[in-house]
Amino acid sequence: MCRHLAWLGESTSVAALVLDPPSGLLVQSYAPRRQKHGLMNADGWGVGFFDAGVPRRWRSAAPLWGDASFASVAPALSSTCLVAAVRSASVGMPIEASASAPFTDGTWLLSHNGLVDRAVLPTSRTAESTNDSALLAALIFDRGMDDLGGTVASVAADDPNARLNILAANGSRLVATTWGDTLSVLRRDDGVVLASEPYDDDPGWQEVPDRHLVEVADARVRMTPLT
Ligand code: GLN
Repeated sequence: MCRHLAWLGESTSVAALVLDPPSGLLVQSYAPRRQKHGLMNADGWGVGFFDAGVPRRWRSAAPLWGDASFASVAPALSSTCLVAAVRSASVGMPIEASASAPFTDGTWLLSHNGLVDRAVLPTSRTAESTNDSALLAALIFDRGMDDLGGTVASVAADDPNARLNILAANGSRLVATTWGDTLSVLRRDDGVVLASEPYDDDPGWQEVPDRHLVEVADARVRMTPLT
């Protein structure tokens, strides 16, 4: 289980989105407030953002709280679109940087918060790692982001215990699902945040109901039920 966050809006520093908020991903790496599965997220982290349309990533298999180099550089990195995650590896999954979200197909950055039986996922030659999240990302990329809701529903049909919260971005759009875990949205004057849990106590945070698809583009947020 993990915690993830995405941003679409005016250019904002990586530190302001990931490290500085009082209950942001940095704090969620050791003290998440709403996590239902797992106590902390110490098995790696990843930050991906779009730089003139190109996805760039910085990932690690170590705890985010111990990375002084990232903390030093993050204030100098800015983007209009970001996906970041801190990871709590599920039992039996590899702990390596390539198993940390966000995954990419060169166009999208994608994070998975949850757990799925790898036996229901097709083997993939393009998956970045052998953990469930990397295999699921490869399947979603293969089927296309326009069919994210359909892919999530079909995986859930094959593994009824699966938890399938997806968060993805392509530089101009955010797409997310809720399927078994929490997600909140914050509409700010300068952009939109989607996050597994609120990074502060702003009363503007709104919880996304379970089994929904969320799409953010042009400062508009649309939520539709998944079936
Ligand atoms: N099942 C995931 C993994 O081990 C757990 C982390 C997450 O929620 N993405 O990779």
